[in-house]
Amino acid sequence: MDDASVRTALLVARTAESRGCLRPGDWPDVAVSLLLEGAEDPAIAELAGLSRQANGWDTEPLVAAACERHEILVPNCDESTILLARLMADDIRARPTVVTAPMTRLLAGLAPPDFESDLASRCFTAEEYLDCGCTEVDLSFEAELQSMPTLGLSAPVTQALARPLRSTLPTTQPAYGHHEH
Ligand SMILES: [Zn+2]
Repeated sequence: MDDASVRTALLVARTAESRGCLRPGDWPDVAVSLLLEGAEDPAIAELAGLSRQANGWDTEPLVAAACERHEILVPNCDESTILLARLMADDIRARPTVVTAPMTRLLAGLAPPDFESDLASRCFTAEEYLDCGCTEVDLSFEAELQSMPTLGLSAPVTQALARPLRSTLPTTQPAYGHHEH
């Protein structure tokens, strides 16, 4: 695993954490995936040894050390939404979901409470009509989201990073019918 890929993975993980899409207990899995790909970083090695019950007191000093070494700065709300969208597009291309419009649903969850990201806000609005027949759903938007450029990370690293966010998707297709809007 080259340094640029380690940097991309850390940037995505740190960004996901800042948006509430990765919890302290998710870091060990991410770190293990990086180690298995050959990342060499003492803080990442130590993170990999933590349990899934790890809390922020355990993970933060190690994550901060790794991020400092790799000069990671979490981008603003718009850019961080796009970064997470690219991650989830990679994950969904590799492992399809059972629900329609998974990208729209995932990114909608990033919108509240601040609505600072145009992309997340657009998904939030679109999601409300996905399972309702009252209006035509624009599937070209979902297709556009699913074809976002790849981050180029390996499948195991992508999967480890995407798992927490993906777990927010419904596990079965929601019933179709009219809702109050
Ligand atoms: Zn409706």
